[in-house]
Amino acid sequence: FKQKTAYEIASCLVGSEMCIRDRIKGIIMNYKNTRYLLTKRPEGMPEDDCWAIDEEAITTLQNNEILIKADYLSIDPYMRGRMNDGMSYAAPVQLGEVMVGESVGRVIESKSNKYKIGDLVTVHKGWQTCIKAKDSEVTILRVPDSKLPSSVFLGTLGMPGRTAFFGLNRVGMPKSGETLVVSAASGAVGSVVGQLGKLAGCHVVGVAGGPEKSEYVRNSLKLDHCIDYKNDNILEKLKEYCPNGIDIYFENVGGELTKNVAQLLNKGARVPVCGFISKYNSTDIRSEETPFHVLGALNPKPKHRFFVVTEWMNEFEKTTSVLHEHVKNGDIKYRETITEGFENAPQALRDVLSGKNFGKQIIKI
Ligand code: NDP
Repeated sequence: FKQKTAYEIASCLVGSEMCIRDRIKGIIMNYKNTRYLLTKRPEGMPEDDCWAIDEEAITTLQNNEILIKADYLSIDPYMRGRMNDGMSYAAPVQLGEVMVGESVGRVIESKSNKYKIGDLVTVHKGWQTCIKAKDSEVTILRVPDSKLPSSVFLGTLGMPGRTAFFGLNRVGMPKSGETLVVSAASGAVGSVVGQLGKLAGCHVVGVAGGPEKSEYVRNSLKLDHCIDYKNDNILEKLKEYCPNGIDIYFENVGGELTKNVAQLLNKGARVPVCGFISKYNSTDIRSEETPFHVLGALNPKPKHRFFVVTEWMNEFEKTTSVLHEHVKNGDIKYRETITEGFENAPQALRDVLSGKNFGKQIIKI
């Protein structure tokens, strides 16, 4: 990377007076971007040496470009998969590229007719503090007027909340009176799934790790029951809390939990497979038993499929506003773990992958 920067500077010096002016302006205005580059593929838990921190001066905006100062960065489980070499549902981050991620922040410079200085937006351009982007970039979404903190638009009112909404409603198709089980129930996606399930009239059982998270799921999120998979006998508790069997299992975790749930699925059950975080740190994910192996072997098979939130991209705005109303009315509660300091992003990712986060994991930059 150092070589590349040296090459770029040399090209500027030789080739373009304009480029030198831009760089000087960037330095004077103190428009500096700090970013994480992926430098190594992890084996197991991603350690600090998987990334290098890089700083670049921001050059003058061209027409239709904006500069966004990121206030909060979202830390999500899917990031681990993108650090692997193999293709998943999205292409891997290449070595030397900016680490993938979404942030929320304000436009601080604009040469765009679409966005003006001061506009609040979310943008999916990776672990960066100062983001230059074309205004046509599809991942830039305007944050609606709200009294809520902007970080919420990375969680309950952002990608995880919409994931919960689409996965539950479009794949899970809940009906009043049905039994819904949701794993990682205190987390960003799971907490919204559970509460939407209650609003749909379902009997909802959450699964979470440890007594504190389970108490939160029962008493704050108001799910009917919560199983502490670290301390309870999962199968016994599932039988006790789901006397009529399970109609929908919202899969976030995989592993032993899926095998236990599979034993109680009713005929006609639906399983939206959102993720299976218990396997994300595997050194050979292709050899792992996934929910598809477990569910596909059942007779009858439940209706199950992996879904990705971007399938419903054209409905993002409408769905965010539905979720926004629920939060404003107090029908949906949320919780965040906000870690101060961009330098703590790698540890925050490890926390998410080991359950140390409690609610949506955010980095305050
Ligand atoms: P969360 O906020 O729920 O954080 C992750 C949680 O997963 C942890 O807090 C922990 O909760 C649980 N967990 C971590 N490791 C394990 C493990 N080994 N076994 C069991 N549980 C574990 O994350 P999100 O809500 O952002 O993501 C939840 C799931 O949704 C993930 O699988 C993610 O990949 C998926 N997802 C899928 C999307 C899609 O479009 N398909 C989009 C967004 C997310 P606890 O302490 O309770 O165990």
